Amino acid sequence: MSATPTPAKNGGSGSIQKERSMVLQKDMIAGHYDALEQAKESGRKVVYTFVPGNLTELLRSFDLLPNLPEINALQSGMRKLSGDFIQEAEKLGHSEDVCTYVKCDIGMLKKGNLGPTGKKLPPPDLLLLSYTGCFTFMKWFELLRHEYDCPVAMLHVPYQSDGQIHPHHRDYIVEQLRSEVIPKLEQVSGRGYDEERLQQSLALSAQAEDDLVWVLESAKNVPSPIDAYFGGVYYIGPLFSAFRGTPEGVEYYRTLRGEIEERVREKRGPITPDGPMAEERYRLVVEGPPNWTSFREFWKMFYDEAAVVVASSYTKVGGLYDRGFRHDPARPLESLADYCLGCYTNLGLPSRVGLLESYIREYRADGFLINSVKSCNSFSVGQLLILRQLEERTKVPGCFIESDLVDPRYFSSANIKNRIESYLQMLEQKRGVRVGT
Ligand code: SF4
Repeated sequence: MSATPTPAKNGGSGSIQKERSMVLQKDMIAGHYDALEQAKESGRKVVYTFVPGNLTELLRSFDLLPNLPEINALQSGMRKLSGDFIQEAEKLGHSEDVCTYVKCDIGMLKKGNLGPTGKKLPPPDLLLLSYTGCFTFMKWFELLRHEYDCPVAMLHVPYQSDGQIHPHHRDYIVEQLRSEVIPKLEQVSGRGYDEERLQQSLALSAQAEDDLVWVLESAKNVPSPIDAYFGGVYYIGPLFSAFRGTPEGVEYYRTLRGEIEERVREKRGPITPDGPMAEERYRLVVEGPPNWTSFREFWKMFYDEAAVVVASSYTKVGGLYDRGFRHDPARPLESLADYCLGCYTNLGLPSRVGLLESYIREYRADGFLINSVKSCNSFSVGQLLILRQLEERTKVPGCFIESDLVDPRYFSSANIKNRIESYLQMLEQKRGVRVGT
């Protein structure tokens, strides 16, 4: 589960408006797929690994290239490729109930392993399972292990059952990094562990993380200069994927922050695919991942009604930086351990409810919406309970919709649009609405 879509064109009404950060990100993603395609010729080794709890800085310190299957799946979803891949996997016997990221990945592999940009993806030199929060990750790599003849390294990350990171959790992960993960990375890369290099990379991560937090928290302004869900998935992309700990990542976030600072100064709203939002009528918090196959249509349902998302849990799936966590070069392996332990999908239900409640209050939200995706147990289990508890605690009414990640068969446009419009009308009647703020 995670996010880094390619920036969409902003030009539904004619002019194409692209901010520099969008161009940068598009180039970064395209460059990464190019590097993966050329990995064999350039002698780079490739590690398949997942987003929540990824060890990007550690991989980069060995000069290894990460390839993230969830990112390939969601990118395929946005490019309308996932439906065929999912059906291919189902033909091979994968059940309808299996996470659609997994089926999309397996289908893509069986159809030639061309990545979402049409570039061939290389086979892995290592499968690195940093297993954070969701058991499906383990089953996913079990499937890939049957497909590829390569070593596997597993980092087991304990679930935060009581909402806290305990020293024994951290020690347990650091011990696995030292005894299991680093030796495998040394073996695959042919290089020794270089802590200084890792520390340099972690320092770059912390810089980018500061800027990302500033961007996400800019939504506390009225009007919000960003959409923290539909826009937010672009903003988290580089940091949650292959660019943490890189100079490109730092540049991207510095540029993005500069653009948003300007929007705040000028009291402008978010940029949508149809241009800048002129009005903010509803401020919402969203729980759950977006739908990728109809992403723009889904977003349009909100901005057409002048509804802006001011905070979301999905943009914390690769780390809760807004709650203070930073990668720390002074504690390299320990801070990697804390990072893995702290991702949103590694939190229990009480912690998730507490986080969403604080977002509703801090961001002065008029309402909150839960998008329950059919195939993701890790997000969807307990969401009805979350709905009830949030309504009780905040007295803010919630909205519950259902869709899927990358299976186009489970996005019922008319139903979802109806539900959202009725919900917003109810908010208007029940709570009163700031108009023209
Ligand atoms: S079930 Fe959800 S969290 Fe787990 S791999 Fe699938 S999309 Fe990601």
